[in-house]
Amino acid sequence: MTVIDKNKPVLVTGASGYVAGWIVKSLLDKGLTVHAAVRNPEARDKLRFLDLLADNAPGTIRYFKSDLLEQGSYDEAMEGCELVYHTASPFTLDVHDPQKDLVDPAKLGTRNVLETANRSHSVKRVVVTSSCAAIYGDNIDAEKVAGGIFTEDIWNTSSSLDHGAYSYSKTLAEKEAWSISEKQSSWDLVVVNPSLVLGPAVNPLAVTSESFRLVRQMGDGTMKAGVPMMGWGVIDVRDLADIHYQAGFVPGAGGRYIASGHNTTYFELVRALHNKFGENYPLPKKELPKWLIWLIGPMLNKALTRRFVTRNIGYKWKGDNSKSIRELHAAYRPLSETMIDMFQQLIDNKII
Ligand code: NAP
Repeated sequence: MTVIDKNKPVLVTGASGYVAGWIVKSLLDKGLTVHAAVRNPEARDKLRFLDLLADNAPGTIRYFKSDLLEQGSYDEAMEGCELVYHTASPFTLDVHDPQKDLVDPAKLGTRNVLETANRSHSVKRVVVTSSCAAIYGDNIDAEKVAGGIFTEDIWNTSSSLDHGAYSYSKTLAEKEAWSISEKQSSWDLVVVNPSLVLGPAVNPLAVTSESFRLVRQMGDGTMKAGVPMMGWGVIDVRDLADIHYQAGFVPGAGGRYIASGHNTTYFELVRALHNKFGENYPLPKKELPKWLIWLIGPMLNKALTRRFVTRNIGYKWKGDNSKSIRELHAAYRPLSETMIDMFQQLIDNKII
């Protein structure tokens, strides 16, 4: 049982990110002091949205300059913190060198942050934002698991540097976290494994997360011919922030938590937009046959390799979120609310 003192500051790594923005907001709204670790605290434009959150909440924010690949750069940010949220990790599918661009910052960065926790005299709990990508690599992997449902007991064994490098980076990073945590007893580790995160951003003009590209392409005409028949797990970014809050403060929280509100498909995501936006935006209206995507996919998108198409298109996705509901009181809002709020935000900010 770990009780966190709410008068102590809380560290959030990668505080400028899409997922972290809502975590920071939830901490500030509850009156906590947030130590926001970012690569460049001088980038005032990029961080203005965090300042705004703090101006409108009882909590306080302080910025620290930290880089996942710079040893010791989290020391100052972690000083006095009992709780650390480690969210920083590159989430992009467009990389030149997967080892350097994804695996190193994910794995070595996790080691850097957790070794800082080992040196600190204050940290009692670390919450790592992993991913369902550390549980499965391709949708076809469901065929090898009981009932075709992904649970917290399962690990991704199908990704590699050449295939699903982002998922590989998250798998190695989470394994590193467990390995470091098992060798010490001064803090406990709680891991959140979100599925695809969607919903509005607190910083809509500065998002880098891959989540945004996906929804933007539904509305900008890129996908007007149709979408692949493919299953996804999806969680709203606001629900994910609540789950992180509970993962930090529920005394008995422990182990991994699948954070996923809906077992859904690409087409169901689009369908949630049809009523409100169908008339004015070139939303996809159908699912494309697998053979067509296999044929032209690699020309349209680097990530749609033949191997990816073979192992993912045509397969559904099912995850078990019951542990998050039972132990972290997770509540998942309807998919339509997530999609409509996110799409509307893209329109309001002239992104589509
Ligand atoms: P994001 O907006 O791109 O956030 C990634 C964060 O990591 C940014 O704050 C970025 O900082 C930071 N970062 C990257 N490289 C760094 C480095 N070398 N040193 C320090 N910070 C670095 O993406 P996101 O979607 O919010 O992702 C946040 C976390 O959620 C990641 O761990 C991701 O794997 C996980 N996750 C995301 C999803 C999803 O669907 N979005 C699903 C499951 C898990 P800068 O602002 O300086 O670039």
